[in-house]
Amino acid sequence: MSTRVNPKLLQQCNEYGGVNVDACFNCGNCTAVCSMTTEEESFPRTLIRYAQVGMEDELLGSKELWLCYNCGECTETCPRQADPARFMMAARCYAITHYDISGISKLMCRSSVFSILFAIALLILFGGFMYTQTAEISTESLKLFEFIPYEFIHTAGLIAIVFLSVVGLIGIIRMIITVGRANNLSMKSFVSGEKMNWWGALWDAVAVQSLGQKRYRDDCVAEENVHGWYLSKWFVHAATMWGFLGLLAATILNWVFDVAGLKPTGTHVPIWYPVRLLGAIAGLLFIYGVTVLIIRRWRKTDAAHSNSRTSDWLFLVILWLAGVTGFIIEIALYLPDPPVWGYWMFLFHVAVSMELLLLLPFSKFAHSIYRIVALYIHALKPIPREEKELADPAGAAD
Ligand code: SF4
Ligand code: SF4
Repeated sequence: MSTRVNPKLLQQCNEYGGVNVDACFNCGNCTAVCSMTTEEESFPRTLIRYAQVGMEDELLGSKELWLCYNCGECTETCPRQADPARFMMAARCYAITHYDISGISKLMCRSSVFSILFAIALLILFGGFMYTQTAEISTESLKLFEFIPYEFIHTAGLIAIVFLSVVGLIGIIRMIITVGRANNLSMKSFVSGEKMNWWGALWDAVAVQSLGQKRYRDDCVAEENVHGWYLSKWFVHAATMWGFLGLLAATILNWVFDVAGLKPTGTHVPIWYPVRLLGAIAGLLFIYGVTVLIIRRWRKTDAAHSNSRTSDWLFLVILWLAGVTGFIIEIALYLPDPPVWGYWMFLFHVAVSMELLLLLPFSKFAHSIYRIVALYIHALKPIPREEKELADPAGAAD
């Protein structure tokens, strides 16, 4: 296979925040300290080398790009202050813009002005549209789904999820093709379902590594002993992710219970109602994780949280606003006198949550999906012949 050379690759990666990676002289210290590196998957030095010599297909097709958790240890040991952790982040952003065909992520990652104006414009647009649907405010109790009709929110949410799924799926397919090609996996091998540990790899990628954060947890043992598990990087990262997924699950369950006629009626749904309980716990976890991440970036506590770009801040601020406003509404629902501000908080919360969903495939948040795909490809292994024979003696004899 011939290698396509892009002489501007390093410069292009730098546009996404690669800071000083041209100073790298390939000593390999960063790879030596990276606990995610194995004999087969060696990074970040190799990836920096790809960028330096313009090997674009190899860089974009590298699953190792997504195995990095931005812990920052490599940056702390680099003798040239080349900031390899930042380079890895920049290269991931570059890859996200490559998988996204709309060009929106490219604009959002490269231009601070565009990303801020785009986010504000979307918020005003959603908020304004929501406002046109509002009904009269009731002062007896907080009737949020009468203020903005439930059917309207439900339909808008469905449209957002369909949009998200289509754009996300296109990105995932493009990634699979790029990474699969670089790792000698064709689309045919993905659908044939014969020679690989398809289900085992899925379990490892989704349950063990993504939900269970195994690699990240193993890497943080020393840190846990110093700062406590609740402040370790893996837990803060996991709290944000578990919280987000929990809130998403609560929203979907709420709809399912409603359709099944199992949802309690009235404003004061008891806190032990499973969906509300799940929402409250997930909301707290989510706010905790995002708040710690914001404080770390603000204080530049370590190499991983220094050099923040507008896209880093924007992503965290939107997450935080969605989480905090949702939680304040939960509290407002239990106040003895229904506060009028609760209605406006609700309108803002729905608009910002909608914005979060729609920006997901174009923002840094997209890495959470692409990482699962990369982890899946990473875990895919051919099934050894003996195992195949045990599973299917007749087939193996053919
Ligand atoms: S990034 Fe720094 S530590 Fe890594 S190879 Fe380059 S100079 Fe060495
Ligand atoms: S940031 Fe951490 S995980 Fe990523 S390459 Fe550097 S040392 Fe490895």
